[in-house]
Amino acid sequence: MRISDRLTRIKPSATLAVNAKAQELRAQGREIISLAVGQPDFGTPAHVCDAAKAALDEGFTRYTPVPGIPALRKAVAEYYTRFYGAKTSADNAIISNGGKQALYNLLMAVVNPGDEVLIPAPYWVSYPAMVQLAEGVSVFVPTSAEEQYLVTVDTLEAARTGKTRVLILNSPSNPTGCCYTQEQLEAIAKWARDNDIFIISDEVYDRLVYAPFEPVSLAKTWEKYPDTIAIVGALSKSFCMTGWRVGYALAHEELVKAMNKIQGQSTSNINSITQKAALAALTGPWDIVDEMKQAFIRRRDRAYEIITGWGAPCPKPDGAFYLFPVLEQFYTEETPDSAAMCSRILEEVGVALVPGSAFGDDKCIRFSYAVDDDTLLDALSKVGSVLLGR
Ligand code: PLP
Repeated sequence: MRISDRLTRIKPSATLAVNAKAQELRAQGREIISLAVGQPDFGTPAHVCDAAKAALDEGFTRYTPVPGIPALRKAVAEYYTRFYGAKTSADNAIISNGGKQALYNLLMAVVNPGDEVLIPAPYWVSYPAMVQLAEGVSVFVPTSAEEQYLVTVDTLEAARTGKTRVLILNSPSNPTGCCYTQEQLEAIAKWARDNDIFIISDEVYDRLVYAPFEPVSLAKTWEKYPDTIAIVGALSKSFCMTGWRVGYALAHEELVKAMNKIQGQSTSNINSITQKAALAALTGPWDIVDEMKQAFIRRRDRAYEIITGWGAPCPKPDGAFYLFPVLEQFYTEETPDSAAMCSRILEEVGVALVPGSAFGDDKCIRFSYAVDDDTLLDALSKVGSVLLGR
């Protein structure tokens, strides 16, 4: 089969590989618990579903403007004003097929062949592949559990070269759940502007942060850096809308036009019905997010206590729904890395986890707590029995 060289260089998603293996075992009749999930275990709120049903009934089933219906673009701009005080307009917003398409199109719009893109590691799985597709060069900036997996101006400066053009930040982070404070983000934004580096800030978990930590966003600095930052958001996680495929970017008008050009020549508008649902989410009540947060805080605290009780170094996350403990002390000759350890755990006790190697840190394994409390505790007890040999 003829497959382009560009594509053969791209690695398939490791998260999807874990899920495929788990499904294979399920098909053999094994009971499998997945802590490899990247989506909330709650349903999409009823008022959002109702808006979609109404859109269908009204026959809202045709092409829309490529960057999204004006009301939705305005609602995205107003979201950033309401929560982060950014003075933006609908022209700064583009609606995309999940946060993923916004990230991809942004990279295609700002990266030239050979440009270096700084990616703090551990990183979300798709960044390096997206940079590769944009013909950029990923430069990983290592971090550690002791420093909450966060980069600083100093560590970024050490990785900067004459070819550095873009930095991808992700807060709250997938896979670590760690978050930058507003001061840390602003120091990085200033450093980036002074060095002519464009920041893509992936904030798809921005509303999923846990008290006393308060939501943080580069949108708060919007007026200072209108042409050196772009923010990516999505309703996938906060409104449990992963399957609907709705995300957005907030960027300079010119950059929105460039992204619109890519979207216009590739996918056009996102699903028209989803856009009506997204409008209902953005302009309706937000208490659902707070209710979900209570469950996540409870689960995070329990999981954190159990995992650190194994003696595993692990920063306590302030957001998202993942823990990323260092587990290399349990690796053995037969299970020498995170992938082998995850396979062993899956085969021996039927718990699916994602190897840290997928996120650029083989010392760690990612645990998602987007499952109900009993399932979480059961799974952790099983994983503990493998690691501690009990
Ligand atoms: N960015 C991060 C950090 C994510 O974890 C995800 C999804 O898991 C995305 C982007 C993509 O989100 P979406 O499903 O909205 O495309």
